[in-house]
Amino acid sequence: MATILVTGGAGFLGSHLCERLLDRGDDVICVDNFFSGRKANIRHLLGNNNFELIRHDIVHPLYVEAEQIYNLACPASPVAYQYNPIKTIKTSTVGMVNILGLAKRCRARVLHTSTSEVYGDPEVHPQREDYWGHVNPLGPRSCYDEGKRVAESLCVNYHLAHGIEVRIVRIFNTYGPRMDPNDGRVVSNFIMQALRGEDLTVYGDGQQTRSFCYVDDLISGFIAMMEQDEEIGPVNLGNPTENTMIELAEAVLEVTGSKSRIGRAPLPKDDPKQRCPDITKAKALLKWEPKVDLKTGLAHAVEYYRQTQFGS
Ligand code: NAD
Ligand code: UDP
Repeated sequence: MATILVTGGAGFLGSHLCERLLDRGDDVICVDNFFSGRKANIRHLLGNNNFELIRHDIVHPLYVEAEQIYNLACPASPVAYQYNPIKTIKTSTVGMVNILGLAKRCRARVLHTSTSEVYGDPEVHPQREDYWGHVNPLGPRSCYDEGKRVAESLCVNYHLAHGIEVRIVRIFNTYGPRMDPNDGRVVSNFIMQALRGEDLTVYGDGQQTRSFCYVDDLISGFIAMMEQDEEIGPVNLGNPTENTMIELAEAVLEVTGSKSRIGRAPLPKDDPKQRCPDITKAKALLKWEPKVDLKTGLAHAVEYYRQTQFGS
């Protein structure tokens, strides 16, 4: 089939994408600097003749040949992307320029993974792609949010100036096996806390909402978006079922059967109050919508954490 470059391929989403592309028969070049990704995520792929791993940081130019590029390189958890905010900005800006330059040289099509964070703390609900967002450009999340907004702008402008075939997806909170158990995101935190018998750390009053998509559904959306010839996006990809963090905590307790209690911790600054994708566009353009409900997806994630973290 095709030679496909996946940046951030050793991360949570990237590893699932590499696996899916290899299963389809593609040649996959996985590029990662292992900042938030892990070798364990891709160890099972290393023996595959169609899989190649390159330790590389996309902030530096990369010279490989590919027909398609999925650009996922960027830490995604607030704890990880706030660890070195300037590096996060460089990855989404300088790194994006390098990837688009590579695409220009190879005439490759690029799918860029943007985020619901471009909507900030949204005043429009649910969020449609034509909403411009409500982002604090100076706050602790700005290194990620503004970096991703510049990356979208770079994609559109390389498309207009050089005819690069870009595809932009805006991902809403996604979870599943291989999400780093220590990366601080809410699903991995709650599951690990439940399995350890610790209190679940609900931040603030727990009434803030998110919409959780299972990883397999999201990867199908990536591939459908890459393969369609009609438009560059952006297209929202996420599960339109919205839950409060209290509801998520209760679902985790039910699925794990844990005796943990729901505890409280301070709400981080600029934490968005609500988030839910309008996926009308994805349904029409990609014939895509999520299939896996929250409790089924959580059960798969719990099984993964039990096996890899607790050996049972
Ligand atoms: P992740 O942190 O598990 O994966 C990101 C990968 O990129 C890691 O393997 C990391 O080591 C690598 N990386 C980071 N900076 C790099 C650099 N400069 N050069 C090379 N590699 C680099 O996160 P994820 O959840 O798999 O997210 C993947 C992409 O999807 C990210 O771009 C993220 O912004 C986007 N996204 C994810 C979600 C989600 O809910 N998972 C939501 C919105 C957007
Ligand atoms: N959250 C929480 N407890 C945690 C981690 C996160 O209540 O241990 C909340 C957080 O305040 C936010 C939501 O869960 O409202 C999602 O947080 P996450 O870091 O997973 O992703 P975000 O959507 O904020 O980028």
